Amino acid sequence: MGTWHEYLQSEGMPPEWPYPIKFGEETELDADVLVLGGGIAGCWAAISAARQGAKVVMMEKGDVRRSGAGGPGCDHWCNVPANPLSRVDPDEWAILEMESLGDYSNGIGIEIQCREDFDALLEMEQMGGKIRDTDDEFLGVEGRDDATKFMVSPRYSVDGALAPAKGWGEPGFNPPEKRNNTVLRIWGSTFKPVLKKECLRLGVRILDRTMATCILNEKGRQGARAVGATGINVRTGEFVIVKAGAVIISTAGAGHLWYLDMEHGGYSTMYSRNQSGDGTAMAWRAGAKVTMMEVSSPNRFSGGLKHKWYTGGGDASYENVPLVDANNKRLPAPTQGWTDGGAMFSPQADIIARVREGVKRGEYELPFYADFASMKPEESHATWDLMLTEESTTKIMVQTMEAGGFDKHRDQIMNYTLIEAQPSQQYRDPAGGGGIMTDWDLMTSVDGLFAAGMSTFSPGDHSYAAATGRYAGRKAAVWAKQRGAGEISREQVDAEKERVLAPTKRTGGIEWKELHNGLSRVMQYYAGEFRNERMLDMALEEIGRIEEFAVPQLYALDPHKLMRSLEDLSIIEYAKIVLNAIKERRFTSQKLRIERQDYPENDPEEEKNYLALYQEDGKVCFQRVPIRYWGTMKEQYEAHNPDYTGVYKG
Ligand SMILES: Cc1cc2nc3c(=O)[nH]c(=O)nc-3n(C[C@H](O)[C@H](O)[C@H](O)COP(=O)(O)OP(=O)(O)OC[C@H]3O[C@@H](n4cnc5c(N)ncnc54)[C@H](O)[C@@H]3O)c2cc1C
Repeated sequence: MGTWHEYLQSEGMPPEWPYPIKFGEETELDADVLVLGGGIAGCWAAISAARQGAKVVMMEKGDVRRSGAGGPGCDHWCNVPANPLSRVDPDEWAILEMESLGDYSNGIGIEIQCREDFDALLEMEQMGGKIRDTDDEFLGVEGRDDATKFMVSPRYSVDGALAPAKGWGEPGFNPPEKRNNTVLRIWGSTFKPVLKKECLRLGVRILDRTMATCILNEKGRQGARAVGATGINVRTGEFVIVKAGAVIISTAGAGHLWYLDMEHGGYSTMYSRNQSGDGTAMAWRAGAKVTMMEVSSPNRFSGGLKHKWYTGGGDASYENVPLVDANNKRLPAPTQGWTDGGAMFSPQADIIARVREGVKRGEYELPFYADFASMKPEESHATWDLMLTEESTTKIMVQTMEAGGFDKHRDQIMNYTLIEAQPSQQYRDPAGGGGIMTDWDLMTSVDGLFAAGMSTFSPGDHSYAAATGRYAGRKAAVWAKQRGAGEISREQVDAEKERVLAPTKRTGGIEWKELHNGLSRVMQYYAGEFRNERMLDMALEEIGRIEEFAVPQLYALDPHKLMRSLEDLSIIEYAKIVLNAIKERRFTSQKLRIERQDYPENDPEEEKNYLALYQEDGKVCFQRVPIRYWGTMKEQYEAHNPDYTGVYKG
């Protein structure tokens, strides 16, 4: 059967719900380690906990095989300074990286990534993932090392940690001896299926299509040790209770508080649709500390309101594709990193400004094109058939364009930079900054509750998720073994079950899309570009009204819509934390991207702290935690991992 329209035409009516409905029924399981979210971090956590001998259960909202932001693929294994071709010291690189990401980066996660992500990559190869050019398909491509068959991403130089050096593509730029070799190009579309296979081989009990809804605290007391979690099967509606010695949150961050676009991707077209802040909301309700929640920025990655991020030329996967104007005039290099008129990597802002001015003066003519045709054939082959094919949903773009006759050796692709408007200030994105705080064991402020990947504050990318997941898994396994099982509270379970199933008890009222749209409007109106105390109070009042009048009318006719409804409730919780955090930051700070009209001055002392938020008996509490609270990264890492054996010995 083709489209929905064709189905209705032939059948005359929509299909029956294809799964048995089990609202109200329960399954109870127990585990040493329970992993919530089977994305990149979650799979690695489950595998490493299982390798420690722990009995592991993992809940995943989708199907672990392809779920999450990293499910479709990945083309860059970033920050892998322990690889044999690297020219930098991993511990020094971790510091450089932390500093290049600004004052509020996550030094714990970055150190773990720099120390251990090469070990994770080698394990990935053992499991069956492809990490080298074993078929010699890319002989002669820049950065390919013939001895190891690793494909180094050549754009990174030793001068800058994260940012590609200026002048990419210029003659003589970034010669091989200057490269840091800290980023490898890999075949990431092979990863997720092998991670699932390995989980199953190790006996991990995978609960696919099961949305985690609540962390269970010992005796049901907020802030007490985590002793399990509840979930709901998003196909049958069956309620799941898992008792566990330790719980790991790896559900990634939040996507889309500020908008809901029903005509396009629904949510952002950049992030996984499942990324709805559930883990942060669960941790928050359990009493764990979260931070960086005040940070947001205009959404650069389209959100369905714009053309997909990958517009031909000028972003990470197209790393070396030159851009030309309508008359084939080459734009200044590097064009890499262009996103919606804003610089993804700061050194390029000046180049973007130059090109904008050039367009106004008539020096360059729109539209621009990614000029695959002018590239060396082996380089366009690598960009098209490795980077874009492996990266993610870009594979679909590759397939679609090829089906339409695109030839990378002959053709150009239109680029939408400067054609589409600047990102609107009211369509903001919280992802990338806010998240759960942890210590050096990746344990949160709640005993037995761990966090990894994009669930942590200021998270990194794919290899960060893999390394932190793998690390959290082994730490949680040890913790669970030492502490044994805790005691869950039936009262807490019952209250959660009632909350979760409430929308299924109604047959009319407000559906999830309407609720989401209402919440997004609140965020757009009162927490957009201009912020002041009155507007923030109005936002909280509005949300209060939504909770009082709209949430009790929320209805879901099937388990899938129930999932979307519960996501809305997470988003509402998340929005309240964001608003409380912005309110509490009574100053203006460029570093934190906070502009308060009522507090236009900077406060350098306040700026030296993370703002941690947590709940005690349902009351919102604040704590200032000094930036770099983790101490000396190398020392702390080694003190916490004396027995770890990996490639890099320190
Ligand atoms: C288009 C795109 C391209 C990218 N390319 C690269 C790249 O080339 N290199 C790179 O380093 N990084 C890349 N990234 C980033 C990388 O994919 C992420 O950093 C990585 O996937 C984060 O891992 P994670 O486990 O934290 O989150 P995810 O992989 O997103 O996993 C989170 C999982 O939690 C599940 N989940 C959410 N809520 C619940 C719940 N309540 N209950 C149960 N399960 C839940 C989700 O379904 C998902 O499977 C890319 C991201 C995108 C979107």
